[in-house]
Amino acid sequence: HSKIAYEPFRKNFFTESTEMAALSEDEVASLRLELDGIKIDGKNVPKPVLKWAQCGLGVQTLDVIRSLGYYKPTSIQSQAIPAIMSGRDVIGVAKTGSGKTIAFILPMCRHILAQRALDKLDGPISLILAPTRELATQIHKECRPFLKALNLQAVCAYGGAPISDQIASLKKGCHVIVCTPGRMIDLLAANSGRVTNLRRITYLVLDEADRMFDMGFESQVSKIMSNIRPDAQKVLFSATFPRIMESLARKALKDPVQIIVGGRSVVAPEITQIVEVRPENTKFVRLLELLGELYDTDEDARTLIFVDRQEAADGLLNELLHKGYPCGSIHGGKDQYDRDSTIDDFKHGAIPIMIATSVAARGLDVKQLKLVVNYDPPNHLEDYVHRAGRTGRAGNKGTAVTFITEEQERYSIDIIKALKYSGQEIPEALQKMSDSFMEKVKTGKEKAARGGFGGKGLEKLDQDRDAVR
Ligand code: ADP
Ligand code: MG
Repeated sequence: HSKIAYEPFRKNFFTESTEMAALSEDEVASLRLELDGIKIDGKNVPKPVLKWAQCGLGVQTLDVIRSLGYYKPTSIQSQAIPAIMSGRDVIGVAKTGSGKTIAFILPMCRHILAQRALDKLDGPISLILAPTRELATQIHKECRPFLKALNLQAVCAYGGAPISDQIASLKKGCHVIVCTPGRMIDLLAANSGRVTNLRRITYLVLDEADRMFDMGFESQVSKIMSNIRPDAQKVLFSATFPRIMESLARKALKDPVQIIVGGRSVVAPEITQIVEVRPENTKFVRLLELLGELYDTDEDARTLIFVDRQEAADGLLNELLHKGYPCGSIHGGKDQYDRDSTIDDFKHGAIPIMIATSVAARGLDVKQLKLVVNYDPPNHLEDYVHRAGRTGRAGNKGTAVTFITEEQERYSIDIIKALKYSGQEIPEALQKMSDSFMEKVKTGKEKAARGGFGGKGLEKLDQDRDAVR
């Protein structure tokens, strides 16, 4: 590479929309949860987008998207597109059928348009490697309407078809080559390297990387990659994320943004989730029952009880102490020293029961914590997941019980989401509450603008979009 004078190229086209810029980090975290539990890793990862208009794509591309009837980006697209459009190397993992192809095609089009036009002897600007002929053909087909709208050319090449035809198309010049690894190596060697070359490749895609490795293409892929200019943008998509890919990614990609969608359920499967719709005045007796059952079988267990306000914490603390249960409470009204010593006592078992507000118990990690009780329901999805996640740690089993009263209908929406995402059954009474609430939203008696993330829930954004249409 040191002998070749590579020309500079552009790869950063992304500007965050004002709408997304307004979201706080907490809101973005909730949003990622709602988008099938997107998990990210890497430095300075851009926020996900919710609309095509936020991606930084050109009008021709947006027109094609509309004509295909793709209403909005899928979860993997919503996070991968801004990351790729920012010029970052990306590892995207999402199950099959989640729209990974479009996630790399759209930024690719933008990338190619920003580069100098092809000269007569230039090779392609983008290389897409795929494990099989069928997949290569499919990607080629999916590119076609976008490339056509932009007057760009693509060639699809794979083993088993006459190489002479593929050579002829390549010689005419093309912006994109979709290819299986073995055939790519053949084509590079053909006519002593006069058919095509990798000198102008600045956008490289490895699609279905896991299958590529399963099929033994690793050395071919590495060989091709080592012949591409080192600063080319590289994106890798896969349905699974095996160790072998992790090591390749570490070697070949620079500061990658790693995106995993829906890999794990939101609330861990070790946690049994129970939701009880019950009147306010039955909650305390039910709590005593739950404590009785637990401490009959497990003396060393810890219980964490969540309430919504400081006064509620102190009130419940007194009631439980009155019944002879050793307990403590932590909330924002107590000083740090007090909170730390209560948490210490809780960890060591001096106080097996602790009452807390959400904020005070953030990140708490206690192995013996077997029971979480949401004495008051959490008011959004992320809070529910975070509270439930205080139990069931390090492979231990745990139970999360949530009380919700008829008056607290609005909270049923996010609780149902959490149950669904983690594959748990929805209690009938809870479903009824949520149906009733949604009915009130439709007739304008209630506002849906609670939750998910400070009133900017996906539903709200969808409604805004519908209103604009
Ligand atoms: P994957 O590569 O993740 O297995 P594909 O990229 O093959 O999935 O996409 C699966 C299907 O979803 C394709 O038929 C594609 O046209 C369609 N699709 C992609 N993006 C969207 C979208 N945003 N909205 C609706 N359908 C989409
Ligand atoms: Mg695919």
